[in-house]
Amino acid sequence: GATPAAELNGFQRIFGVETEYGVAVTGADRPIDAGQVAMTMFQPVVSRARSTNTYLDNGSRLYLDVGSHPEYATAEARDPMEALAADAAGERIMASLAAGAQERLRAVHGEGATIHVFKNNVDSAGHAFGCHENYLVRRAVPLETIERQLLPFLITRQLYTGAGRFTPDGFQITQRADFLDEAVSSATTRSRPMVNTRDEPHADPDAFRRLHVIIGDSNRSQWATWMKLAVTHLVLCVIEDAVRRGAPSGFEDLAFDDPAAANRAVSRWLDGGADDADDPVGALAMQRRYLDIVSSFVETHRSELNATLPLTSVEDVLADWRWALNALGRRDFAALATRVDWAAKYRLAEAMRRRRPDLTFAQLERMELDYHDVANGRLYASLVAHGSLEERLDAAAVSAARHTPPADTRAALRGAFVRRALDSGAQFSCDWTTFVVSSPVRREAVLLDPFAADPTPEYMALMESMA
Ligand code: ATP
Ligand code: MG
Ligand code: MG
Repeated sequence: GATPAAELNGFQRIFGVETEYGVAVTGADRPIDAGQVAMTMFQPVVSRARSTNTYLDNGSRLYLDVGSHPEYATAEARDPMEALAADAAGERIMASLAAGAQERLRAVHGEGATIHVFKNNVDSAGHAFGCHENYLVRRAVPLETIERQLLPFLITRQLYTGAGRFTPDGFQITQRADFLDEAVSSATTRSRPMVNTRDEPHADPDAFRRLHVIIGDSNRSQWATWMKLAVTHLVLCVIEDAVRRGAPSGFEDLAFDDPAAANRAVSRWLDGGADDADDPVGALAMQRRYLDIVSSFVETHRSELNATLPLTSVEDVLADWRWALNALGRRDFAALATRVDWAAKYRLAEAMRRRRPDLTFAQLERMELDYHDVANGRLYASLVAHGSLEERLDAAAVSAARHTPPADTRAALRGAFVRRALDSGAQFSCDWTTFVVSSPVRREAVLLDPFAADPTPEYMALMESMA
């Protein structure tokens, strides 16, 4: 087939993160609905691309579907660090669009008009929206294996990747648990599955599927974004290797009878007692099982695993994973608060409560929204400035990722294509696999291998047509 054996048999992965944002305006002279805010943000995109759906010179996708949730989908990355940088660049791109829109709104609706762009997953009306992780997975892995062996991991992983949510009846460690009701499904419209298997691999369909993980929260913590991609990758490596060898992975007996109920129980993990026996679904114990199995796997596959991740050290992932589980076991929320979103918010709430015992839900909600606001929020930046929350990327890396695609995937070709098309004024369109110039002569290039960053003859001809 079209896919090189090394890719088929190795541990290489493609990662992508889609983030939907919530938007709102406060302080205007009249109410402005979210749809209008989103359209105002997208005015410069529409005037440049003649569409609300476009690809950028960093290889990512920026779009506004029906509704009012701007979305940014990171370009194909080979390493969680690179996906993290691309996602952080997406936050800055949203903030820039918001700043421009805010200026235009203020001219009409008063100087107080302030745009909020929330990187969270539930709006004030109780509608949920997503942060989807994409993983390229070898097609030989059966869906049933994903459901039985990966899903329990994804559900319990939320102990350290959940973004937390204040509700009138208590604090939950995840945003979305109350909104997800099906384990694995190929539809996202009618049902709300935790893992979507809709068959659009954006790669050789005989070799790969694209796993679409819906269950996760949007994270402000850079550690959490990096961590969720890295640990999920390692669990997938164990599963793929077992399938390849026709041997057990060790994850066989971990499946939940009712995944949606387990997911809701994990979200209320803090309501349980202080020791493992009170943990309703044994979430922490289950994470320790995954960590043990993955650790022994790393022992025997260390160099191959490290060779396929250009930036992330597998030892660091294991060390941080172990650190998180130990801190959870001690209920050391102060330690967790430097890296785990829910713990950071939980700790802030405790501090607020100490200062004002009459603290209301509305005040907690305001604090929470400020934490998630990438346009005008202050809380996240102040936590980072005070050393209370760790960042993994420096400002220069984030700013570079706004215009630089990953160099070692198809994204490099897409980024260069978009750059050239914009510079030459050519009419172009693209998606993940197909790049098109539509005038003066229609030409296209199809790039099915997401790992391939080398120009094909077809791609070179396309590029030359715009020279
Ligand atoms: P929807 O927004 O309707 O859920 P979608 O999930 O199909 O659509 P996009 O929002 O376009 O798609 O995002 C696709 C994501 O998949 C991007 O982050 C992209 O980098 C990633 N991706 C592209 N090709 C592959 C691949 N072969 N394997 C894994 N991920 C991929
Ligand atoms: Mg999407
Ligand atoms: Mg998606």
